[in-house]
Amino acid sequence: MFSVKLALKLNNREATLMAKHAGFRRVVFNMGLSLRTQMYSEGKFSDSKVINEVKKVLTNRVKKQPEFAWMNQLSSRVYQNALIDLKDAFSRYRSGKSGHPTLASRRNKQSFTVDSSNGKVVLSAVNTIKIPTLGTFRLHEPLECNFVSQTFTLSKEGSHWFVSFCVDVERLPIQQLQDSIGIDLGVKVFATLSNNQVFDAPKPLKRAKTKLAILQRQASKQVNGSNNQGKTYNKISQIHSRISAHRKDLLHKLTTYLAKTFKLIKIEDLNVKGMMANHNLAEAISDLGFYEFKRQLTYKCQMYGASLVLIDQWFPSSKTCSHCGNKKDMPLNLRTYDCPVCGRSIDHDLNASLNILNWEQPSA
Ligand SMILES: [Zn+2]
Repeated sequence: MFSVKLALKLNNREATLMAKHAGFRRVVFNMGLSLRTQMYSEGKFSDSKVINEVKKVLTNRVKKQPEFAWMNQLSSRVYQNALIDLKDAFSRYRSGKSGHPTLASRRNKQSFTVDSSNGKVVLSAVNTIKIPTLGTFRLHEPLECNFVSQTFTLSKEGSHWFVSFCVDVERLPIQQLQDSIGIDLGVKVFATLSNNQVFDAPKPLKRAKTKLAILQRQASKQVNGSNNQGKTYNKISQIHSRISAHRKDLLHKLTTYLAKTFKLIKIEDLNVKGMMANHNLAEAISDLGFYEFKRQLTYKCQMYGASLVLIDQWFPSSKTCSHCGNKKDMPLNLRTYDCPVCGRSIDHDLNASLNILNWEQPSA
């Protein structure tokens, strides 16, 4: 069994549809939970019996009341799966694996599950995915090959929706042609590979920032709560989502390329939290999406069967000479590593990526 997770490319209408289904799941889960709590206080019932009662109440009473009419327009598989989730939550609680189930809130992660009631469906290796009972949606990247699966979970991370499902193979049939690579992540150049390939930073923020500043000033001068101010706020949020979509697109292309090309990938495990504390660097770093890079690379390496090695963040990758191992202080503004011992003169980032490539797990 292998889990595949793909980023969906949704338009506004489709994103709204997803949000509605996530809301549906939350409402059903919460109704089920409170009904169950009520029934439990009235006497002992088995989980399945309780769930069946909940289903009856929902189907017979609630779904027929006008204020719940919206539910009938959404996939009924969401509702079935929400109750399965509730049942699982209770069995985990009883086996001591987790606490008592709590009400799902709008602030929790938005997600829901649908399945095909006619058994497994075939997913073709194309740019779109047909999700049972929901429809066909565009993908950021095409599927690698044809798959068969039955249950699909949709979840929202940041501003993006993902679909994940399980397939019955060990891993995707990809054979990476190249052995190993070290990657240095930086502010000036986003990724420098130890084979001297360079990837520039996805940096649309600077340009968009001027535009944002103008709009923000405009909004502050407009009457609070007015229509015009609302329009300005809409423009601001559009720029924000364009920036993040552009950045994620570039990161997806880079991380897919890496996971499909190299058998072994080594990167430094950046202490993102520590860096965020430093205010000046913080903006640059969150902007460049190191965290997102690591997140994507981690799941794609799993997906394509590549190995990802995260190196201790205190490893002196910039201070060490990749040729002779000499260590010296390296101010950040120096672009070249000039080794006083062996005389090697090499690009600062390339030197670091070679050190990352040559890094070995210290034996305990
Ligand atoms: Zn040297």
